[in-house]
Amino acid sequence: MSPEEFRQHGHAAIDWIADYWASLEELPVRSPAQPGDVRRALPPTAPDAGEPFDALLDDLDAIVVPGLTHWQHPRFFAYFPANSSPVAILGDLLSSGIGAQGMLWATSPALTEVEQVVLDWLVRALDLPETFLSDGPGGGVIQDTASTATFTALVAALHRASGGEARITGVSAGEWRVYGSSQAHSSLVKAAIMAGLGEEAVRLVGVDPHTQSMDVDALRDVVAQDVAAGLRPLMVHACAGSTSTGAMDDIVALGEVAREHGAWLHVDAAWAGVAAVCPEHRQHLAGVELADSFVTNPHKWLLTTFDCSTLWVRDRTPLVGALSILPEYLRNRASDSDEVVDYRDWHPQLGRRFRALKLWAVLRTYGLDGLRAHIRDGVELASYAADLVRADDRFELLTEPVLSLVVFRLRAGDEATMAAMEAVNDSGVAYLSHTTVEGRMAMRIAVGGWRTSRSDVERTWRALQEAAEP
Ligand SMILES: *Cc1c(COP(=O)(O)O)cnc(C)c1O
Repeated sequence: MSPEEFRQHGHAAIDWIADYWASLEELPVRSPAQPGDVRRALPPTAPDAGEPFDALLDDLDAIVVPGLTHWQHPRFFAYFPANSSPVAILGDLLSSGIGAQGMLWATSPALTEVEQVVLDWLVRALDLPETFLSDGPGGGVIQDTASTATFTALVAALHRASGGEARITGVSAGEWRVYGSSQAHSSLVKAAIMAGLGEEAVRLVGVDPHTQSMDVDALRDVVAQDVAAGLRPLMVHACAGSTSTGAMDDIVALGEVAREHGAWLHVDAAWAGVAAVCPEHRQHLAGVELADSFVTNPHKWLLTTFDCSTLWVRDRTPLVGALSILPEYLRNRASDSDEVVDYRDWHPQLGRRFRALKLWAVLRTYGLDGLRAHIRDGVELASYAADLVRADDRFELLTEPVLSLVVFRLRAGDEATMAAMEAVNDSGVAYLSHTTVEGRMAMRIAVGGWRTSRSDVERTWRALQEAAEP
């Protein structure tokens, strides 16, 4: 494809995306595809002779779209939104067009420095601690996902707690303990597995039945028992906005426990953290100044095409200490001078894309005012959805709505709850996902998509009411 042909097909690809968005209203939100449907429609081998690019767009329509669950659909309410806004898409495309690798400052200085500036902007926009700024002892880095960010933080914690031993000798079985609530994201356990600590190293502490936030007394008890048994508290994982119900742990209290035992405090605010662009939602992050690391995902609610997860550390020394490896072929004068940041030392992988470009595009084009308006919209729609739940006796809220998340069920019980949700999902009108709260099945409506309006919430609610009819 020549640059001229690229121009032409590029226009067609952008048109395809805009047409796709326009068609969503008519499509079932959740894909009706059965296992193997998509595979069977595709040839088993790649073509020997190249085909025209248009053939690919045709197959997108004919084969791929029916196999898609439409995450950008205005009535996608499952999990959490994965907002792919037009601005972010263009930023992502430009990043692909530049096609540079940013593993070292020297491999493309702008990739590193734009990322530092944009993450500093976000520190100020979210009112995060100054120690996270790039010209202080800490700094921020864009990771692919919050899961990787939490894993990276755990490895840094291990480096600090072991005085650097862990990277040389590895870890001995059963020595370390990591604490999170029973509502902590599964990426915490996965991080412990990947770090070689093992699942048993993770203590999942009970939660308050109403708020679903960690029971701090229970945490103190578990830590005290472990210490008495000669085990070493490595990390306390605070959840600011759990995936199940949006539960908020008390970061201040968890930070105090961590500090008493020299443990690392990691705050996982993957979904909810970005709401702090609005001053009225910053109370959820109270205590974040105690955090050794903090992660939030602009790729969920903040309109930035997946993947873009932002991790900050208060002190970059243990992070770089844990992960820095310098083979001869990567040596360069800038790195040796110590005047630059080499992001390859800040995450598991070496190569890295220019992800900061899409975040930069989002922050500049929407402006903080535009982003605040988007967050406020989501919160308002969720509060509207919660009012609808309260107004119908057949339904009940299981927890108070948190930000843009509403968790509720049918009073008739687990079976009726799941049947109503599945009926709506099968109808294609909307897509909701479920969870359990204190052993009871519940549905979740996670608002916050960039195309969702009040009428989408109303239409979904009507469908749920119909499905609930006895
Ligand atoms: C979504 C979520 C994660 C995982 O996010 P990825 O970026 O997909 O790894 C972790 N923690 C919480 C609280 C989440 O909501």
